[in-house]
Amino acid sequence: MDKVNITIIGAGVVGLAIAETLSDKYENILVLEKHGKFGQETSSRNSEVIHSGIYYPPGSLKAKLCVEGAGMLYSYCKKNSIPHSKLGKLIVAVNETEKIHLEELYDTGIKNGVKNLKVFDKNETVLLEPDVNAVSALYSPDTGIIDSHSLMYSLYKTSVASGVMFSFGNELNRIEKNKDGYLIGIKNDDYEFTTDFVINSAGLYSDHIAELAGIDIDSAGYRLRYCKGSYFSYEKKSPVKMLVYPVPHKDLTGLGTHATLDLGGRLRFGPDTEYIDSMEYKVDASKRDFFYEGANKIIKELERESFVPDMCGIRPKIKGNGIKDFIITDETSKGLEGFINLIGIESPGLTASLAIAKYVRSLLKEVA
Ligand SMILES: Cc1cc2nc3c(=O)[nH]c(=O)nc-3n(C[C@H](O)[C@H](O)[C@H](O)COP(=O)(O)OP(=O)(O)OC[C@H]3O[C@@H](n4cnc5c(N)ncnc54)[C@H](O)[C@@H]3O)c2cc1C
Repeated sequence: MDKVNITIIGAGVVGLAIAETLSDKYENILVLEKHGKFGQETSSRNSEVIHSGIYYPPGSLKAKLCVEGAGMLYSYCKKNSIPHSKLGKLIVAVNETEKIHLEELYDTGIKNGVKNLKVFDKNETVLLEPDVNAVSALYSPDTGIIDSHSLMYSLYKTSVASGVMFSFGNELNRIEKNKDGYLIGIKNDDYEFTTDFVINSAGLYSDHIAELAGIDIDSAGYRLRYCKGSYFSYEKKSPVKMLVYPVPHKDLTGLGTHATLDLGGRLRFGPDTEYIDSMEYKVDASKRDFFYEGANKIIKELERESFVPDMCGIRPKIKGNGIKDFIITDETSKGLEGFINLIGIESPGLTASLAIAKYVRSLLKEVA
């Protein structure tokens, strides 16, 4: 039976970043991916924003890995010619109550170590973006956008060049701990192999993988629920040149209907938040009014008819109330030595991907 040293489950941006990061120290790494190519799920269905780290509770993994990851990502983009742009972002308060929340957000951003944040009054805001509705705004000049496909391709290419093996079109459906490590089984195939270490980076299915390994995911707090986020694009020329966000939901379910631009200058609004029971990626065209009204709250004189259904993505939300952090942990205490779970890697997972990989490497160093 074949044996590999490290098996990474999932070739989304996080699995790819982990593969690339581990490849300069470890040999015999396999990435197992059920689709025929990398990045076919959440990693290619998001806003492609490089977040600065304003929103997340100070001290959380989301805050730390977002701030560190954003810096790492800008350096990586420069070094590897990945298309990106530091457009800047405004979070706009449209009334006095939101203004108070905006100031709280500023304090959170400062505590998280976000640099260059500024609070602008109405006049300063309209000097930057004349078509924005605001009584005040939080300006984050270091927020940007990235071509996530180019990033993933670069991570994939470097990993392959460093000897990482990729097995596409193979879905893991069995994990058994045995005296040699872990036995991995593949769906619709008699093929199985053993591995010393497992890194579960399976995105929307990471709770399922943890369960296959024998973890009680309810008592561990790993069970996921799916939160769909749809986008509508704006067919006319964008009236704004930077990213414009409303003040977010208190529980951070989503960041509110915001305006993002892609590298071609195309304007999109979204994502909204809709809890779903099964995976489906259709955008409901009847949501046009909802998107128009959300967008109209923060940007003036948009045309309702120019809103057209675009794409959607699904967030792997950890079940339960309140703001949830990323779970990135070695499961030795559960009897699974060398098994690292990454659960609930929702936004800012793209921004944080390189820092997450560095963190996983530090966990692995303790056991490998
Ligand atoms: C609507 C939306 C907007 C977002 N916007 C942003 C943003 O602007 N900025 C930001 O930083 N983040 C954003 N995010 C978050 C970001 O997209 C994710 O955190 C990131 O893509 C997660 O990457 P991943 O590799 O963990 O997961 P995925 O991309 O889901 O990859 C997991 C992989 O595992 C594979 N897999 C699953 N089960 C198995 C199995 N049994 N066997 C083999 N392979 C398996 C899947 O096929 C998949 O390819 C957004 C997310 C959503 C949903």
